[in-house]
Amino acid sequence: MDSRSKGRTAVEVGADGVALITIINPPVNSLSFDVLYSLSENYEEALRRNDVKAIVITGEKGKFSGGFDITGLGGSQERKPKPDSMSVDFLSDVVEGAKKPSVAAVDGLALGGGLELAMACHARISTSSAQLGLPELQLGIIPGLGGTQRLPRLIGLSKSLDMMLTSKPIKGEEAHALGLVDAIVLPAELIKTARRWALDISEYRRPWVLSLYKTSKLEPLKEVREICKFARAQVQKEAPNVKHPLICIDVIEEGIISGPRVGLRKEAEASQVLSQSDTSKSLVHVFFAQRATSKIPGITDRGMMPRQVNKVAVVGGGLMGSGIVTALILNNFPVILKEMNENLLQTGINRVKANLKRQMAKGTIPLEKFDKTVSLLKGVLNYESFKEVDLVIEAVVENIVVKQQIFTDLEKYCGPHCILASNTSTIDLTLIGAKTQSHDRIVGAHFFSPAHIMPLLEIVQTPQTSPQVILNLISLAKKIKKTPVLVGNCTGFAVNRIFFPYTQAATMLVERGAHPYKIDQVVTKFGMPMGPFRLADLVGFGVAIATAKQFINEFPDRTHRSMLISIMQEDKRAGESTRKGFYLYDEKRRASPDPELNKYIEKARSISGIAVDPKIQNLPEKDIIEMIFFPVVNEACRVLSEGIAVKASDLDIASVLGMSFPAYRGGIMFWADSLGTKYVCSRLEEWSKDYGGFFNPCNYLAQRAAQGIPLSSPADQAKPRL
Ligand code: NAD
Repeated sequence: MDSRSKGRTAVEVGADGVALITIINPPVNSLSFDVLYSLSENYEEALRRNDVKAIVITGEKGKFSGGFDITGLGGSQERKPKPDSMSVDFLSDVVEGAKKPSVAAVDGLALGGGLELAMACHARISTSSAQLGLPELQLGIIPGLGGTQRLPRLIGLSKSLDMMLTSKPIKGEEAHALGLVDAIVLPAELIKTARRWALDISEYRRPWVLSLYKTSKLEPLKEVREICKFARAQVQKEAPNVKHPLICIDVIEEGIISGPRVGLRKEAEASQVLSQSDTSKSLVHVFFAQRATSKIPGITDRGMMPRQVNKVAVVGGGLMGSGIVTALILNNFPVILKEMNENLLQTGINRVKANLKRQMAKGTIPLEKFDKTVSLLKGVLNYESFKEVDLVIEAVVENIVVKQQIFTDLEKYCGPHCILASNTSTIDLTLIGAKTQSHDRIVGAHFFSPAHIMPLLEIVQTPQTSPQVILNLISLAKKIKKTPVLVGNCTGFAVNRIFFPYTQAATMLVERGAHPYKIDQVVTKFGMPMGPFRLADLVGFGVAIATAKQFINEFPDRTHRSMLISIMQEDKRAGESTRKGFYLYDEKRRASPDPELNKYIEKARSISGIAVDPKIQNLPEKDIIEMIFFPVVNEACRVLSEGIAVKASDLDIASVLGMSFPAYRGGIMFWADSLGTKYVCSRLEEWSKDYGGFFNPCNYLAQRAAQGIPLSSPADQAKPRL
């Protein structure tokens, strides 16, 4: 292979007259340009040679193909055009339209372009564990190699829409039941069966099926229109700010109504346009940023091997502890849970069981796995068995004295290799470990609530935490399906710190005349799952006030002090848990507006002495978004300049996975870059003149704006605190 080339295919013609074409492009045999050129050459040869009767396509090392190589779709880069071999015509005319039949031998992955290639073959043989899917929509594009036309024809419209719109793959068995694959075999039998099958087709012993022209699985036209109408309504409700799911439905519908050739043309045109869209650039950026979080200079590039964590202990079975236990046992880790007394222990274990039951109800885990999963959990009231564990995660009340005592005990009872982690949200980790001699193995493992669902894990490093400990925790995070982001030790770490101005800015706008419901509505329309006031209700006012105090103490120069939430709390409104906060809640926790809210707003305004500003009262939606999110960008810049985060893209992931900032905007920094640092900085300057230091752009942002450098460029001037 040419050292510059990225993958290839190899062809081998057997004595049986079958040309076996193997995709070779580790790790997932993606369809790079080089693979595709090579594939078209191999095809040409196989079709030309008289000794070849049929073709089998497979992927090296048990992976068919993970799909089109999207490295060329880098977030902000110019995108290269696809080669001819990557065109729909190649698959339709050369592969599907050939005079010799092709069979796909699928093991491991057949995703995106990989599945589209397999669908252009005349049959598919698969293993039961293979994963087949068209996940293009999660990258802001649609299947562009005939997938929108062939999948509905192979498995019917309803199921194919479901697979494309959710981007979720299915396993071999289900694919077989649906008709996407023709036979399921053991991995060892795969190639042999596929060869036989291909010869059988060429010798007319099995049907020669062109998926593009199959109609038996398609619903009647009237039903097609109904299904598409329903799907459109669903996606408009769930993702109103993005267009590609709607375009995907249009393309599919058009192909069914006007025929597959028209559908293919429409698919090609739409793919071309969508691959250049901001949405796709943002989603591709998020895709790569997520993978980049575990590439950490000085830690993951030293050749160290992560040490195996076999058993974990969790101290505290409250809200967070029970969620952390759930995440661990769901991923097969044996766990010891310690609580203070029998009663609290049982409550914690019951919480874990309730979490598991909810996952079962959603179909995430099968019913039969429940008992086995619960059996991985052992409850204890002392530390005697802690010598067996390799990692402890402390999740007790946010109290420095209690935590210090626990860490002293942990040092006494755990083995010297054991990692001692705390889930604290606010307390300095150095203080937590102050009374121990174990500073190199003390680390933050900051989960987000609910811990078994939220995908982010902030790993908090102190100056003393050893790289090996970080590496071990990164490895564990992946095993429990969390995305690890390494952050430095500061108030709020990354997510809570960069988002503290979010609620503060919103409250400031309310005191100056904006209405909380209007703000929530605009922020939700922007793409957040809920606005800042609905979020405050969910978190609870007790936590909101305690957290705000921490930030006011730590960053007095840039915090807005409002009495609004405190006044409401004094009146026994503490958010969703009390059924009254900024909204009223019914027994199903559905929120509705409360006219009484205005009374508290008036009172907060009179206490702070801030007059209603007609400009803020009538603030356009765009300005509401900017006044709320630009201070978040500003704080994220401080976090970067202080070296709390390794790179800007980590903050993008932290914002997307920790705060549900819309992925289709690329994360907080990518979004700011899309507007331009100059613009963000100049708006903050403008507001800081009118409304004070809260909006003052930090030096890092001001410098980047002055030099026209995007926030995503490496922060080489930062002094790392990691
Ligand atoms: P919680 O009050 O729900 O649970 C704390 C549990 O710790 C209680 O069940 C208590 O009985 C137990 N506990 C106290 N002392 C103990 C001891 N010595 N041994 C064993 N158990 C003991 O609190 P929570 O919301 O689960 O928060 C726990 C930690 O997680 C805190 O440090 C908090 O800051 C952090 N955190 C909370 C959230 C959140 O959203 N609630 C998010 C991230 C991190």
